[in-house]
Amino acid sequence: MKIYGLMKTTLLDYPGKVASTVFLGGCNFRCEFCHNMDLITDLNNVKEIPFSDVIDHFRLRKGVIDGVCITGGEPTLYPDLIDLITAVKEMGLLVKLDSNGSKTRVLEDLIAKKLLDYIAIDVKASFNKYPSICGLSKCLDSESQITDVLNNVSDTINMLINQDLIDYEFRTTVIREYHDEKEFELIGDMLKGASKYFLQGYVCSEYVPNQDLHGYSKEELQKFVPQLSQKIDYVGIRGMD
Ligand code: SF4
Repeated sequence: MKIYGLMKTTLLDYPGKVASTVFLGGCNFRCEFCHNMDLITDLNNVKEIPFSDVIDHFRLRKGVIDGVCITGGEPTLYPDLIDLITAVKEMGLLVKLDSNGSKTRVLEDLIAKKLLDYIAIDVKASFNKYPSICGLSKCLDSESQITDVLNNVSDTINMLINQDLIDYEFRTTVIREYHDEKEFELIGDMLKGASKYFLQGYVCSEYVPNQDLHGYSKEELQKFVPQLSQKIDYVGIRGMD
């Protein structure tokens, strides 16, 4: 496992909790709007943080933080992710995992072992847009591999909707060039019956691969909420304050 970032205290990453956030490098997607691309394609220039330093930090912050958010990159790519999560749980801290949902079996296994307290899954777009906006052809060798990834994301979504062992949310970073009313009709169908879905505002930065993307205003995002609320229990807007 390669740990490339540690935010010591955050009120933003774990809903309702004070948390530390760990950033793991590497990802099986290449999203055009990724803010962490340096953690994915430029790993040699990012300083790695030793596992033991991260664990020591959690030990020191125990009593100050409620839990740990593990994000990326894509954390589920690492077989030893379970070691990090187990160490955190043994300290009595909560664990939230952020994922693109492409490794369903890993998520199922962690849930079955009661090692997670909250999962946030990024829903990038409707499935037919995933290959282009997530750059799947840049990191996968064949159409069948792309199909497998899309099937896994779909399985993850359905698995979470149809279980009651763990709290979860779906979320989309909303980009003017990708998402409109028609698109949210399709996403609403993908997430039908889900308990929570957040529309996240998009802001460009110098690190984003595609510099020609734009976000919506909060008022514009609000207009998508009634449409989505017909299929999803709670739809919220995040990151626009
Ligand atoms: S899945 Fe997340 S970490 Fe991976 S490229 Fe896309 S936005 Fe970046």
